[in-house]
Amino acid sequence: MDRTITLKIIVLALIAVSFGLFAVRFGRVVLRILQANAETPAAEFTFGRRCWIFFWEVLCQANVIQRRPLVGIAHALLLWGFLAFLLAEFDHFAGIFGISLIDKDSDTGVFYFWLVFLFAFCCTLAIATLAFRRHILKSEWLDPITTETSLTLALIFIVMLTLLPLWWISEPSRASQVIWWLHTIAVLVLLPLLPHAKNLHMLLSPIALFLQRPGFSQIPALQDAEDPGLATGLDITRLTALQAYSCVECGRCTEQCPAYNTGKELDPRLIALGLNYYMDEYGPRSESPILEVAISPKAVFECTTCGACETHCPAGIQHLSMIVGLRRGAVISGTWQDPNAAKLFQSLSEHGNAMGVSEAERDRFIAWQELPIFDGSQEYCLWLGCMGAFDPRGRAIIGSFVEIMQHLGTSYGVLSKEYCTGDPARRLGNDAITKELADINRRLLSHYGALKIVSICPHCVRTIAEDWNQLQPAEAGEVQAPLDATIEHHTEFLARHADRLPSRDTGPTVAFHDPCYLGRYRNVYNDPRYVLAQTATVVEPPRTRESSYCCGAGGGLVFLGDEGGNRRMNEERANELIATGADVIATACPFCSASFREAHKPNAGAGTPPFLDIAQIVAEQIRL
Ligand code: SF4
Ligand code: SF4
Repeated sequence: MDRTITLKIIVLALIAVSFGLFAVRFGRVVLRILQANAETPAAEFTFGRRCWIFFWEVLCQANVIQRRPLVGIAHALLLWGFLAFLLAEFDHFAGIFGISLIDKDSDTGVFYFWLVFLFAFCCTLAIATLAFRRHILKSEWLDPITTETSLTLALIFIVMLTLLPLWWISEPSRASQVIWWLHTIAVLVLLPLLPHAKNLHMLLSPIALFLQRPGFSQIPALQDAEDPGLATGLDITRLTALQAYSCVECGRCTEQCPAYNTGKELDPRLIALGLNYYMDEYGPRSESPILEVAISPKAVFECTTCGACETHCPAGIQHLSMIVGLRRGAVISGTWQDPNAAKLFQSLSEHGNAMGVSEAERDRFIAWQELPIFDGSQEYCLWLGCMGAFDPRGRAIIGSFVEIMQHLGTSYGVLSKEYCTGDPARRLGNDAITKELADINRRLLSHYGALKIVSICPHCVRTIAEDWNQLQPAEAGEVQAPLDATIEHHTEFLARHADRLPSRDTGPTVAFHDPCYLGRYRNVYNDPRYVLAQTATVVEPPRTRESSYCCGAGGGLVFLGDEGGNRRMNEERANELIATGADVIATACPFCSASFREAHKPNAGAGTPPFLDIAQIVAEQIRL
């Protein structure tokens, strides 16, 4: 092709316009992100770990493929194709100015051509698959496709389709000229479309994944007593802004959300997109309240903090820090007024437990159950928690677990005084009360020299193991009691002692419900199944393990009264578990047990399976 000076000038001008538009659009977003505050992480991933995450989650697209093989592979092929085409694109534009980056006749050039050819073929299939899903299957979780998204996909398609003939056809002809211009224009139109709306995820989600907070549901510590939580633009951190801009609007979070699926106003996608909208319309230096102008306050308090959204998000968006941050903003500013929450906070402050009952009730239970008092000489401090100390169902679980510990000859004791870990206050955005409770409990555990704690409640386990360490740093002069103890959940304890627990070849079928705070929060999936499998056949409900469906009690919601929406989460999940046809439904959280007990009442009848905690199932086997 004869590349005249005029041609070069035209192409150069088109490149300048395309890059200019790209830079203006992308620069605006980058500037908004950089104007936000830096975030002080509670803990840090090592650089090596971050590189591994980048390799595994971005380059290999492993999580996306594992969770949705077909769509995941289609998406991965697009990314790999995009990367494979980069060099060819640079070569194409350099060629206009007489520079050749690839010797097409060399072995390497030929190899590269076939590699690109392979990816072009796969990418074409991938785009067809994604288009079929969008236009024909019309998944209810996906937003209607916009003109801009359709145009982007069409342009990628044209770029891939035109590059190969360009490479192949060496003789100048009218056809090759048409293809050359088609390819060049497609690339130059595509470039400014990238930093816009959901296309931004192509540029930002790899960075968001690389920079994500370490661990699941990490809630950044408040900086000081004046920190208002996530209330206005001034409180949006760079990482939160980056994550909000990375949303690809795939709706995977929405699909998994128990609140959304039972007709509540909450849609986790709209939490990310709401912050995205706020950044665009108000910016990170705005003092306008985020709730109301960009996100519904009602929706924010409908979240059970089950974490399904965060687990399934392919773009590395950490919803829980956003949701709890927004709740903090509403609680600290006093804009959220809920009588049930006020009662809960008062109970926690005055009685040290979420039920609002006298401490003497706990003492009575300890005396009735003849539980030894922990004095530092026993191996385990058995943490009762509010449910274990006051709720009848929770007390029954404690009774069963104590039977097992006695069967194993494990020495244990319970604290003479113990207060709520602060879990419901923490999830509802009241760090002040959480910190008060954490400090008292830390002092008690430290005083008695507890080194090993075991609890029947995964909420207590999570809060003691992680949240207590992530609260606002101690004030100057304040001495925080050291906490040398490790804590584990009773299913982990049981799994470690499984060889000394009953084992039988025949037994009932048991469907196991993964509690959110045990599975997604602690990554404990196999231990309960391992224990159950010793005496039963374990069957799985349709939504299981990482995709388990919340019972509706978490996030402090169990204390807030009517959950709203058009269906109840506990009933929906209980019915799903019953529909497995299992003889027994097992779980491992006193909140799940209590929720299912509530849901179970209207359904109870002949043939309805019992809902039991694993400790109750194992204790029954010991009694046989
Ligand atoms: S944590 Fe659970 S309830 Fe809350 S938004 Fe995410 S999926 Fe929905
Ligand atoms: S937040 Fe994540 S899962 Fe939800 S729509 Fe956005 S990218 Fe998809």
